[in-house]
Amino acid sequence: MSSLFPALTGGPARRPALRFGDRSLTYAELAAATGALADRIPGSGRVAVWATVELETAVAVVAALEAGVAAVPLNPKSGEKELGHILSDSAPSAVLAAPGAELPAPVRDLPRIDIEVHGTTSAAPAAPTTPDASAGDEDPALIVYTSGTTGPPKGAVIPRRAVATTLDALADAWQWTGDDVLVHGLPLFHVHGLVLGILGPLRRGGSVRHLGRFTTQGVARELNDGATMLFGVPTMYHRIAEALPAEPELAKALGGARLLVSGSAALPVHDHERIAAATGRRVVERYGMTETLMNTSVRADGEARAGTVGVPLPGVELRLVEEDGSAVAAYDGETVGEIQVRGPNLFTGYLNRPDATRDAFTADGWFRTGDMAVRDPDGYVRIVGRKATDLIKSGGYKIGAGEIENALLEHPAVREAAVTGEPDADLGERIVAWVVPADPDSPPGVEELADHVARRLAPHKRPRVVHHLTALPRNDMGKIMKRALTRD
Ligand code: ATP
Ligand code: MG
Repeated sequence: MSSLFPALTGGPARRPALRFGDRSLTYAELAAATGALADRIPGSGRVAVWATVELETAVAVVAALEAGVAAVPLNPKSGEKELGHILSDSAPSAVLAAPGAELPAPVRDLPRIDIEVHGTTSAAPAAPTTPDASAGDEDPALIVYTSGTTGPPKGAVIPRRAVATTLDALADAWQWTGDDVLVHGLPLFHVHGLVLGILGPLRRGGSVRHLGRFTTQGVARELNDGATMLFGVPTMYHRIAEALPAEPELAKALGGARLLVSGSAALPVHDHERIAAATGRRVVERYGMTETLMNTSVRADGEARAGTVGVPLPGVELRLVEEDGSAVAAYDGETVGEIQVRGPNLFTGYLNRPDATRDAFTADGWFRTGDMAVRDPDGYVRIVGRKATDLIKSGGYKIGAGEIENALLEHPAVREAAVTGEPDADLGERIVAWVVPADPDSPPGVEELADHVARRLAPHKRPRVVHHLTALPRNDMGKIMKRALTRD
């Protein structure tokens, strides 16, 4: 297979490719750095990458892909137990790490390859990288461990074909070109931050500016200084929505951006609307997962409606399936089914987990996402929540946690909210709201919130129990860990 990054050899040699803080590389410099590193990577199997938020991580992953070797990104914040699990599962031949990085025990035991990136040298010659011709479309590009939101992380084997097709489908949907400059504030060990945020711009021949740590001031600075796009998770857009009234520079920056994209979890409607009102710009939501890369998105030339994740990307087949296995034909905005997808964006399976891989697919090759959704009359997908944690069966109704969470977030006394179900003798399950109050000294009571939800949605959707918390349990991507929401 040819290189996933044609811009490295035939592209805009002097254009900035990557910038992390005050360190940056042009395409020519990136080609030199990845070419040199690729020569030091063992020629077969896979390598782990110690995925700190640094230039080195991006260089290492690109070098591995150019060498035709699969990269296994490691989250440096993972505990030793999780790292041990990932290393014994994926059995990498070496770990690529930035020279200064200190590695914990299980990672330290691997042969180490230091990622040498020499500073900015304006005249660095473009060493032609020679992508390993033996790497085929179906060969693994990445092994990415799922977020572990619903169980222990599983290693999704992502072939080169899936990386190429998902990035090209997004380019179509977002009119994404080499002229785009991305503002990046995410970690680099998951699909969002790594595949979309690093490999995406490099495949287009565009530029990435990583903030290191996300701040609303950093976003404002970069967007007001020539950057065109922002990729973020909902917790970032929440912080933006909160900061907008006090930061006029931020409103100006977002208003002038070409594209604001949210993904990895549902963007609360309240935050979407507040940002739209303050900036005149709507956030585009896309929906994907480790196993499928990207499935749907609002298109750059489409209507970004709050609470929807748009339409299937080019090449992606998507259907909703009811519990009895029948496909939902209606685009009525009401009939809930599990999202199943098929297409060239899919992974090839979970590493060493033939059982889990088999369970994940239907007999006719559709991937069961475990996410529940409805489709609006115009085909837009509206995610209701996860089958395992977000679908509450109460009083004969199937109720999605997401719309109740959205309604709760519109209450002025609620800062954050998550909704779960718990067993109830009468109802089957009753609706439980976990609320972080805006003012801890006057938390909203159950009656007030129940009335608020009943008025907005329907009486059977009102929470019967409210717990007050100081914060919701979230993972590194800001996703709410519903498994951790228990009464004590
Ligand atoms: P695990 O599979 O280990 O339990 P995870 O599913 O959180 O963890 P990821 O693959 O990182 O791991 O996340 C994919 C999931 O994130 C999707 O299945 C979906 O539930 C959720 N998601 C992603 N984008 C969106 C979105 N725009 N709106 C709602 N949910 C989203
Ligand atoms: Mg998952």
